[in-house]
Amino acid sequence: MSMFCFQCEETANGTACTAGGVCGKKADTANLQDALTGELIGLARAVDGNTPTESTHKAAIDGLFVTATNVSFDGEAISRHIENVKAEKARLVPKCGECQSVCSRNDAYDMARLWGDNEDIRSLKSLLLFGLRGMAAYAHHARALGKTDESVNAFFYKGLFALGEDKPADELFSLVMELGSVNMKCMELLDAANTGALGTPQPVKVSRSIEPGPFIVISGHDLADLKLLLEQTEGQGVNIYTHSEMLPAHGYPELKKYPHLKGNFGTAWQNQQSEFDNIPAPVLFTANCLMPVKPSYADRVFTTSAVSYPGAAHIGQDKDFTPVVKKALELGGYKEPRSMTGINGGGALTTGFAKDAVLSVAGKVIEAVKTGAVRHFFLVGGCDGAKPGRNYYTEFVKEAPKDTIILTLACGKYRFNDLDIGEIGGLPRIMDMGQCNDAFSAVKVALALSEAFNCSVNELPLTLVLSWYEQKAVCILLTLLSLGLKNIHIGPSLSAFVSPNILSALADKFSLTPVSAPKADLQKILGLP
Ligand code: SF4
Repeated sequence: MSMFCFQCEETANGTACTAGGVCGKKADTANLQDALTGELIGLARAVDGNTPTESTHKAAIDGLFVTATNVSFDGEAISRHIENVKAEKARLVPKCGECQSVCSRNDAYDMARLWGDNEDIRSLKSLLLFGLRGMAAYAHHARALGKTDESVNAFFYKGLFALGEDKPADELFSLVMELGSVNMKCMELLDAANTGALGTPQPVKVSRSIEPGPFIVISGHDLADLKLLLEQTEGQGVNIYTHSEMLPAHGYPELKKYPHLKGNFGTAWQNQQSEFDNIPAPVLFTANCLMPVKPSYADRVFTTSAVSYPGAAHIGQDKDFTPVVKKALELGGYKEPRSMTGINGGGALTTGFAKDAVLSVAGKVIEAVKTGAVRHFFLVGGCDGAKPGRNYYTEFVKEAPKDTIILTLACGKYRFNDLDIGEIGGLPRIMDMGQCNDAFSAVKVALALSEAFNCSVNELPLTLVLSWYEQKAVCILLTLLSLGLKNIHIGPSLSAFVSPNILSALADKFSLTPVSAPKADLQKILGLP
């Protein structure tokens, strides 16, 4: 075994990648990510009893984020994070380096110990670690817009510290649930950062057509990067198109005011290798999800922040996107207009139905439920991915009765967001609430509806049907469970890192249910004959 990684849904044989990643990650990169995680645990040990600073928080958050799936394939970049974490630890505990009586109190942790642990302990520690990696992504994006929270920062160290300790299962389970609650706070922080800087999202139709002339495609989740790119390309004759999880950007007033933010390119992340094939434009990756780059577009891939790929040009902390703009002008874009469709061949594309937009029509929604015009709401969302079985979500939405409404978020929506399934009393039957972190919006809407109907969230005519792929889905699921939400349906397959005992505990406590077949699940949820 030359590596060990089982953190995503795509993991080899549904068990673990041990020779190379299905995602394209090489064994030496995976091992460096383990070394970085071990150093982060050492950093958390050094923080215990000392006072971390802003640079400590940045080292911890970025170090966790860079180990998430499809963020970095670049061993050199990961090695720089390792050195950065070591330097931060040395700053916190300067005397450790000169100490004559070696106690190993602040040492890095050997991740092989975790991967080789008892399967239930390994499962709980994996939930904790992968949840921390997911939450680090949100904390990173909030920091980019100037928002941080001490309790969120503190939990990164608490969680990392616990990973290096021998703790009983019940203590680890409590920590996993605590992570869910802290992640709610982190998503709230990011929501405040996004809406504070960019305004409140509004429903908007988004074009799937690409105009002739130079353009840039921007992918990932970082709205701060998109804003900077829009500012730097103003008046330059270069159009900007969002890709995958960047789609909800079109709903934000401070982004959509730029006339050169034209529309959306392509579909979800896992289709990028075919959609970017020979693209006459540069692509800027601001966060996951980057896939191994094909030669036909390797010279036009740019990365920034935590994202990196060997050989790809990287935009540093100065965020000077001049090389990207130059590449766009050099490549020139398409000569003729080009129209793209969704995966079902449809052209419809809307977004911007975040909490304020939905709650602004709360009266209409409540009335529709009371009169029976709306029988049920489904939140069908989460990550998209490449493995077969994900058409479950397309079929589920197609089969959902006409008196149901589909709320959605994250890139899993590309499985059905080109379908025109109509409206109910002026309410669109598909409402895109935003990126994965906008699960915060969904929770807020659910809480407001439960108040309006004077019932618990679990008694609402609402079912969550989630798809997972990477670690942000882990922290979101933990948030939903920490709020006491039950009967969540999850798929397309179960996590390799959740052991049978832990799965059974989650099923017993929260009625967490694996998806089966769309029709059968709909019948069960709606009580149909
Ligand atoms: Fe395998 Fe997923 Fe890890 Fe990549 S991230 S190495 S596909 S488990």
